[in-house]
Amino acid sequence: MKKIVIIGGGIAGLSAGIFAQKNGFDSIIVEKHHTLGGECTGWDRQGYHIDGCIHWLLGTKEGTQIHDIWSTVGALNGIEIYHPESFMAVEHEGVTVNFYRDLERFESSWLEISPEDKEEIEEFCSDIKQIHSFSIPSGKPVDMMSLIEKIKYLLSMKDISPLMQKYGKMSVKELAKKFKHAALREAIASFMPEGDYSAIAILFPLGTFTSGQSSIPRGGSKALVKRMVERYLSLGGTVEASCEVMEVAIKGDTVKGIKCKNGKSFKADYFIAACDAKVLYEKLLKGSYPDQAFEKRYNNPDIYPLASNIYIGIGYEGEMNDIPRTLKFPLESVDIKQNQKPIEHLQMTHYGYEPNFAPKGHTVITFAINQFKPELDAWETLVKDKEAYTKEKNRIGEAVIAAIETRFPHMKGKLKLLDVGSPQTYVRYCNAYRGAFMGFWPTISGRSLAHTGRIKGLDNMLLSGQWLQPPGGLPVAVITGKDTIMRICKKEKQQFITS
Ligand SMILES: Cc1cc2nc3c(=O)[nH]c(=O)nc-3n(C[C@H](O)[C@H](O)[C@H](O)COP(=O)(O)OP(=O)(O)OC[C@H]3O[C@@H](n4cnc5c(N)ncnc54)[C@H](O)[C@@H]3O)c2cc1C
Repeated sequence: MKKIVIIGGGIAGLSAGIFAQKNGFDSIIVEKHHTLGGECTGWDRQGYHIDGCIHWLLGTKEGTQIHDIWSTVGALNGIEIYHPESFMAVEHEGVTVNFYRDLERFESSWLEISPEDKEEIEEFCSDIKQIHSFSIPSGKPVDMMSLIEKIKYLLSMKDISPLMQKYGKMSVKELAKKFKHAALREAIASFMPEGDYSAIAILFPLGTFTSGQSSIPRGGSKALVKRMVERYLSLGGTVEASCEVMEVAIKGDTVKGIKCKNGKSFKADYFIAACDAKVLYEKLLKGSYPDQAFEKRYNNPDIYPLASNIYIGIGYEGEMNDIPRTLKFPLESVDIKQNQKPIEHLQMTHYGYEPNFAPKGHTVITFAINQFKPELDAWETLVKDKEAYTKEKNRIGEAVIAAIETRFPHMKGKLKLLDVGSPQTYVRYCNAYRGAFMGFWPTISGRSLAHTGRIKGLDNMLLSGQWLQPPGGLPVAVITGKDTIMRICKKEKQQFITS
């Protein structure tokens, strides 16, 4: 039985491990942290559970290829899916714009706000609707398809290609400007920060959400990972946690083994780096096997931006059933020193639909404040002074509480700060480059990357995970984990077993 060592136990590593076991390999996941899941995680604080990941999971609709993969890895089986009423609601000068799940309601609510935008609203909703008949092809990576499979794949993309062209070359800002009403413009623009981010980043989430392809598995991120770990162990996989890989032993074009911080070492026939790409190329391979596609992206952060988060967990002594699950509201009082420009909205998500995330009658709330290049630089400097770093995180947390109290006076005195994570939290726990929580974000000037994970010069090591396809996220992680095992099966000349 051939042996596979998987570096990293995030969603990609777990997916690779499960498919490795299913295909008759003997695999081990070697994970730096004491727990598995990587960026797909959640944690308990003062009687509350903070979900640190899933806001939307692509693949919740039965009958799609991506749903099949999630089912095979044990992530969704028998799990109820929660479908929120709206993707998000955005408040602007007394008007609330809803991105409803029901597309007809979405359209009529927008027309009610701005009848003069009729043409644009109808075009936008019709484009969103076109995504409904499309589901992300995830059976086989394109480079492994036969000619006939490639033709079928191209035909399946024929309806979507004009939309990709249209929105791929339009920035979020340009899309927003098409609307006359300030609240609609603001609602669209608030999806992404200033910059030339492609409007695809709006069209696809809304298309998959309104078609029921993206929703929320009950129990959240931590529970989803637990199910995947159980599936992996039940198939005979092995986990070595609290074991950071530091070195790779290479002879010729073959990786022979890995060495870990705790002194342990592992040998195998194949090695899968399901960790951060930068960690692989720079730390583990010591810069000896550079990859042009990644170098180009790392060296051009304006065209290939990365984002991280300030992630804040707050406990509320009360219920929030009358407030949309995700709400963006304008700010008056948060001063975030790391941010070059003032933040104009705060994005709040509450978990009132999860009874086990908070004590009875209470609700847990999270805030994600995206951080980009200049902010990431500021956090890298600040973390060197532990006291100042902790103080600043707490100050931001308390400022967010003050902002909630201004917007919702009835919550005053009933909010408590549970936790504040910074971009450096993701660096510390997941070795995430710059604290990035997804891959490179799509921009109108950037070229899309679809990387095979092959490492030039190494015959038996592959990269897997969110970095291989923009914009990253859980679907890319689970698909690429599977694809990596498909590639190994092909090399071994054995048929790949899917389920
Ligand atoms: C706040 C937040 C919200 C998000 N929301 C969503 C969402 O709603 N929908 C969505 O699709 N995605 C979301 N994401 C993104 C999603 O979590 C990630 O894209 C996905 O989890 C990445 O999985 P991965 O396995 O590729 O990488 P990771 O999760 O980064 O896993 C890599 C693993 O490798 C380990 N590792 C690193 N270096 C080493 C080493 N040297 N030795 C051993 N182990 C190592 C790390 O500890 C980690 O466990 C969110 C992320 C965050 C942070």
